[in-house]
Amino acid sequence: MTTESVALDLPGARTHENLRNYPPPEQWDSFFLNDARAHPRKVRREFMLVPSTCFNCESACGLLAYVDKQDLSILKVEGNPAHPGSRGRNCAKGPATINQINDPERLLHPLRRVGKRGGGEWEQVSWDEALDDIAGRIRTAIVEGRNNEVMYHVGRPGEDGFAERFLTAWGVDGHNSHTNICSSGARLGQSLWGGFDRPSPDYAHAKVILLLSSHLETGHYFNPHAQRIMEGKLDGAKLIVIDPRMSNTASHANLWLAPWPGSEAAILLAIASYLLRTRQIDAAYLERWFNWDTYLDNLHPDAPPDFATFLDLLTEDYATFTFEFAAAEAQVPVERIEAMARLVAECDGKLAAHVWRSACAGNYGGWQVARALWFVLALTGSIGTKGGTSPNGWDKFIPHGPNMPPAHESWNELTWPAEYPLSTNEMSILLPHFLKDGRGKLEVYFSRVYNPIWTNPDGFTWMEALTDTDAVKLHVALTPTWSETAEFADYVLPMGHSLERHDTHSYETHAGKWLGFRQPVRRVAMEKLGLPVGDTRDANPGEVWEENEYWFELSWRIDPDGSLGIRQYFESPYRPGEKVTVDEYYRWIFENQVPGLQDKADRLGLSPLAYMRKFGVVEVASDIYRVDERPLTDAELDGAVADEHGVLRKPVTLESTPPLVGEAGAVGVHHADGSQTFGWLSPSRKLEVYSPAMRDWGWPEYATPQYIESHVSRGKIDTERGEFVLVPTFRLPTLIHTRSGNAKYLNELGNTHPLWLNRSDADRLGLVTGALVRVSTRIGHFVVKVWATEGIRPGVTALSHHMGRWRLRDGEGSRWVTGLVDLDRSPEGVWRMRQRQGVQAFSSDDKDSERIFWEDPGVHQNLTFPVQPDPWSGMHCWLQKVRLEPAHEGDRYADVVVDTRKSREVYREWLAMTKATLGPGGQRRPEFLMRPVKPKRKAFRV
Ligand code: SF4
Repeated sequence: MTTESVALDLPGARTHENLRNYPPPEQWDSFFLNDARAHPRKVRREFMLVPSTCFNCESACGLLAYVDKQDLSILKVEGNPAHPGSRGRNCAKGPATINQINDPERLLHPLRRVGKRGGGEWEQVSWDEALDDIAGRIRTAIVEGRNNEVMYHVGRPGEDGFAERFLTAWGVDGHNSHTNICSSGARLGQSLWGGFDRPSPDYAHAKVILLLSSHLETGHYFNPHAQRIMEGKLDGAKLIVIDPRMSNTASHANLWLAPWPGSEAAILLAIASYLLRTRQIDAAYLERWFNWDTYLDNLHPDAPPDFATFLDLLTEDYATFTFEFAAAEAQVPVERIEAMARLVAECDGKLAAHVWRSACAGNYGGWQVARALWFVLALTGSIGTKGGTSPNGWDKFIPHGPNMPPAHESWNELTWPAEYPLSTNEMSILLPHFLKDGRGKLEVYFSRVYNPIWTNPDGFTWMEALTDTDAVKLHVALTPTWSETAEFADYVLPMGHSLERHDTHSYETHAGKWLGFRQPVRRVAMEKLGLPVGDTRDANPGEVWEENEYWFELSWRIDPDGSLGIRQYFESPYRPGEKVTVDEYYRWIFENQVPGLQDKADRLGLSPLAYMRKFGVVEVASDIYRVDERPLTDAELDGAVADEHGVLRKPVTLESTPPLVGEAGAVGVHHADGSQTFGWLSPSRKLEVYSPAMRDWGWPEYATPQYIESHVSRGKIDTERGEFVLVPTFRLPTLIHTRSGNAKYLNELGNTHPLWLNRSDADRLGLVTGALVRVSTRIGHFVVKVWATEGIRPGVTALSHHMGRWRLRDGEGSRWVTGLVDLDRSPEGVWRMRQRQGVQAFSSDDKDSERIFWEDPGVHQNLTFPVQPDPWSGMHCWLQKVRLEPAHEGDRYADVVVDTRKSREVYREWLAMTKATLGPGGQRRPEFLMRPVKPKRKAFRV
């Protein structure tokens, strides 16, 4: 293999000029460094550089692990220059993976509860004992038709498709996600347009970049997006940031607007209205791609059905969204919004914009922020263009494994309840309330890299549900680290970190597609060195396992003789009737599912699997734009017939499965000019400025982009009474959710989280920086320290998430970050948490644990938030209406008090805002909306 041939095939090489600064790939199997510990002597050590991908946020940046060939220890983790998304660069959390690997407090062996659940007593058990018990219970549930009593609840997935595979094979509609504490709002607003639920901005080529809220540093595609935003800026792009707080991103903005939270859709619609009335729009794009005929049919049935009339009426319909209206809602000078609109209007079809969590995840009706943002993108002709914003699906590649199981026919109303037919996705936050209501129970509940007691709102209600052994008969926590939720499990099973497991994944980091390959780096090194490896446990510390092998094994034990029809999906594609290995599973994918990979591998004399083991990634496509205009192929058109709206469909039955997104049978759109193109994944295959789905499921007033007044709008907050809007949704750029608790470097970098309060508000309340303040919500209060600053707008206060970790007992894990707390509950149901001890130095195999200088574990604010599910998207509306007052006598820092009876009241109030509507033909939810583990079409119908 020559350097030149490698460079030609390196996916990241084309876009990364500094490849020469990384060890060249031909040296990755044998790379020498001097041993720093031997300094000043020069002692050379030989390393193998094995690629993997980061698991510390969703971006899955490329990593290169330096595996010492003598003792198989991992020296360090750096960026993988071959990765087209991250291009060799990482944020602080990537290299900190080494801390997680070497954490002296990590879980190394399977544990089983002894005594009562949550009692803190554990015994070590073998994997066999745990697997047999869990598999036996799942088998019994399936045999008895209690499939809906098995639930897999995932926090950070970090993979595409594997969990869906085993749940489908089991016939279990038990996928539950963390999505409705994360991105349900943005997903609904975007899905209603074209069926795709995320944006994929082409920042590097943009003329104007528009970011809502503290996007960059709060983690979504933090590094791959951040580096391209800076490239765009260096090329002259103007950056607009909308955020009530001076975030790291806002500090880079050409125009920063700090509006009242919840007013964002009004601002965007005012921009849309300005674009329409000044006709600074791409009319040709709108005529071709909007479903404007449906808009006219539904809203102006007597108007002439032509595009010019539509434009005039659309302009009229949005005329009420004036700059003055938006300025009043946002409580900002009207000139600022006008200036923003002018900047946007000058984008030349190159507006790259993103919204994901932030405003969409904070507010009642927050999904309309995403809906309004795509309205602006469409009006400016920026969708799918170079420098514009594409839908995520264009820039993401998901292969599937061998012998895919067919869809099942189950529908689980614990996760897909009738009250939320448009939710995106599962109603995860309501699970403990539904269990308390007796809507169902769980035989086996897996929490997987998920810590709902700590991460979700209303954690005490979670604690109550998880300690109810009738409602949750077996709780299995699959986790690489100790967590507040693992404390309330029956089994705690140690799973691998990103250098200890296999996964494939792909994310929309830019206008291209790649497939990343996470791999257990010691195992790869051992195999290359000819050392024996049975399964990944042989290469990982202790008995830490990778999940794929675990799920293979569990599935096999659920159906040991194949009589349930499950085992067949976990048999080798190369050795009929035998258990599939991870090598075989990925070999099949790479040989059969990844376009171009075989050729790339051939050029280097490698097999596709060896290529992926060598580089950890493959670029599948680049420079992807305007996929909506892709002409349909003869195969796609074969048998397709256009309906009255031009949608080209093939016949389907109720036995078929809808695709992951889009409607079953639809293949594209037949345009008025006779062209036939791929289009969108909405029911009309066009961009739906009018959404028939919203109409059909009972919300015609929100069928078009609208502004819904938030539960924390300016009119609902009485600042004279000490009321504020609390923004709890941002985080420090160096912290993750639970898992940074085991990364010492990250905790050294970020270890305080004061309450941001505008100086004028602090003065008004008689508070100074460092003063204790009591923050009261609907269900309780917490006590925290104030930071008086100009960095947040008056009337709004903010407290970063990702601190406030706690443990109940001495010696329990994550002591780099947890405080020791006392917890008690009154007979009436009032919970009180008080910190007994902050973070302290401790003795361990890692001497750094004795050098801990930070003391503050922070405050667990989420415990005091009731569930506030948005009636449409199901998104938990994170922003809180709170009352601030100086701490009371007896209050102590980090005190948390919550009355879960009030939690139940608030839950019922928000539930009452929904409509349990069935769609056409008794349909539970629109088929085109994304739904993990999609069942057959007939399961969509009651
Ligand atoms: S942005 Fe940071 S945390 Fe996220 S995948 Fe990349 S290196 Fe890891």
